[in-house]
Amino acid sequence: MRPATALVHGGTLRSSFDETSEGLFLTQGFVYETMEAAEARFKGTDPGFIYSRFSNPTVAMFEARMAMLEGAEAARATASGMAAVTAAMMGQLKAGDHVVAARALFGSCLYVVEDLLPRFGVASTLVDGTDLAQWRAAMRPNTRAAFLESPTNPGLDVLDIPAIAEIVHAGGARLVVDNVFATPLLQKPIELGADCVVYSATKHIDGQGRCLGGVILASREFIDTHIHNFLRQTGPAMSPFNAWVMLKGLETLPLRVAQQTANAMRVADFLSRNKGIARVLYPFRDDHPQVELARRQMTGGGTLVTFDVQGGKAAAFRFANALDIINISNNLGDAKSLITHPATTTHQRLTPEQRAAIGIGDGMLRLSVGIEDIDDLIEDLQRGLAAL
Ligand SMILES: *Cc1c(COP(=O)(O)O)cnc(C)c1O
Repeated sequence: MRPATALVHGGTLRSSFDETSEGLFLTQGFVYETMEAAEARFKGTDPGFIYSRFSNPTVAMFEARMAMLEGAEAARATASGMAAVTAAMMGQLKAGDHVVAARALFGSCLYVVEDLLPRFGVASTLVDGTDLAQWRAAMRPNTRAAFLESPTNPGLDVLDIPAIAEIVHAGGARLVVDNVFATPLLQKPIELGADCVVYSATKHIDGQGRCLGGVILASREFIDTHIHNFLRQTGPAMSPFNAWVMLKGLETLPLRVAQQTANAMRVADFLSRNKGIARVLYPFRDDHPQVELARRQMTGGGTLVTFDVQGGKAAAFRFANALDIINISNNLGDAKSLITHPATTTHQRLTPEQRAAIGIGDGMLRLSVGIEDIDDLIEDLQRGLAAL
């Protein structure tokens, strides 16, 4: 099945009632015909379901559909994107190991790498993800994993996944890619050399602002060795209800991402023609610093546009406060267009120097472009520009 078909039909487990829509198995456990059947389930000789912390039919459908989309051998769903990131890292690491990560990370991913892992004896080094020499220099004999996001949040830098994978593999480590900003449709990290891909399904996969969720995708061997038991015993399971919502989200993912990406390109071009805007960052625009790399490893520029308004924080606030259609929210990937001021929200925890190091200024706004009519979005942005 091609992606658009797999996202509608892939992984469906139809019950004895032959329902059209995927069944929502809102159940904690499962019953066994006999004690012998229970014994066989626990032994693993009968592959059926045991308990929804381990596996559940609705969650299994979501995992199978995601694995088909990603081209991965195996997938495991989690309660949130951060549960996926935490499990993907903690499941494969132990005290004495070392991790290298790009500095420009989603705030909570930075917490996992910088604060949480070191508390358990896993050292970490942060590098400028666009500088391959820094990746090379950061590798140590005990480096076991590397972590990156591309495009980055909120600066939309594009990191060279094949080149970084080569450096990481040469050092005997594994590369984990958080592919939220690119979506599984516009970038295929496993084909580019990553060993493990993680998503916050909260973003484009739901795409309609309802449920939290996450997913980890990798080889069968990686999932069986590092992830399966970690999730089963520590319990960050995706709710069957959320898995059902995510399955319905996947059906329309290609339609939404295509519309959002087309809108985002138009928004970026529109903003770049305006005097009040100091800089526009969009991976598929000719003036993006890594546009050639972006065109090589992505099939679209994505659904986010980041830009700097002239006049710093006060001007950025005036711009966003003047918008009627675009909502102020730190979320992204939604059908609704959402705008946020990273310096005072998602990246408030960083010092001004740390923000400067990853290019976040006081005039920066990050716009997650939705599926609305482009003309309404442009008119709304004109309201923001007028307020500057
Ligand atoms: C939102 C996000 C996460 C965390 O996902 P949650 O579902 O909110 O836990 C991780 N990485 C990136 C890039 C994100 O945008």
